[in-house]
Amino acid sequence: MIPNERPRPARPETRDLSELRALKARLPELAPAIDMQVELVELHRRIQLRVSTPSPVPASEREARRRQGRRALELSDVPIEWADAGLAARQTADILHRHEVLEPADHRRLVAVVREGSDLAPLVAAWYAETAQGPGTRTPASTRPPMLDDVLQLALRPFFGRAVEVAERGIDLGDWSRPWCPFCGASPDFAVYVDDDHRQLICSRCIGRWEWEAIGCPWCPNRDRRQLPTFTSPDHRYRLCACDGCRRYLKAYNAQGAPRPVMPAVDTIATLPLDAAAAQRGYIGV
Ligand SMILES: [Zn+2]
Ligand SMILES: [Zn+2]
Repeated sequence: MIPNERPRPARPETRDLSELRALKARLPELAPAIDMQVELVELHRRIQLRVSTPSPVPASEREARRRQGRRALELSDVPIEWADAGLAARQTADILHRHEVLEPADHRRLVAVVREGSDLAPLVAAWYAETAQGPGTRTPASTRPPMLDDVLQLALRPFFGRAVEVAERGIDLGDWSRPWCPFCGASPDFAVYVDDDHRQLICSRCIGRWEWEAIGCPWCPNRDRRQLPTFTSPDHRYRLCACDGCRRYLKAYNAQGAPRPVMPAVDTIATLPLDAAAAQRGYIGV
């Protein structure tokens, strides 16, 4: 722990849970997805209490990584305690299995892999190394069990989240122009429009945020507005930005005049109807 650190304010996850419950009352057809998300958020909070605060990366090293266009966090900068990580992965797999997102055979295999936290370390190292230069350098994950990457992404979020909280205090993202995370190298899976001209992408792994082009596809070079249709939720709070070049899309929260800030744990679920509409038109989610 960093000495003399001020106590953190109440964590926003409490708000996540109340927003998810309100969403369920409003859109009961989303109940199965919301119930699973509530369990994942509760697990995230329990694990978060056990995660220590890492020392910041020294300024000289931070600057060297920035100059080289590298991500801000190496795995050794993330305060992963492997027994806790194993527990988080096991419980994440159990939640996905209970909600029928994970097949029984895949669940058994995953549980065997993560039973010993120490077995997890080399798998996590390989998984993290694949995004060292952004998602484009990914190699086929043939040696890892199916769905392990998805479980790791959810289970390790409390550890990565804590590392990002520390890293973002001393970082200058001014010249970061890539559509992948400046902290951990993963792809975005959500975005927030601060206003019509400013969009921040939100990392699928660490929830880090960074400013990127307001118009434009993060997955391909398409920048032609006519080839970038958007779909909006009835209340105009959410926007789905599709691409006719690569057929992928990214969803976003419109923060202009919004009653609350973006909450990825809530907003990715609240926008499931937009995913369904995009799928009907042949677009593929991230
Ligand atoms: Zn990230
Ligand atoms: Zn595209």
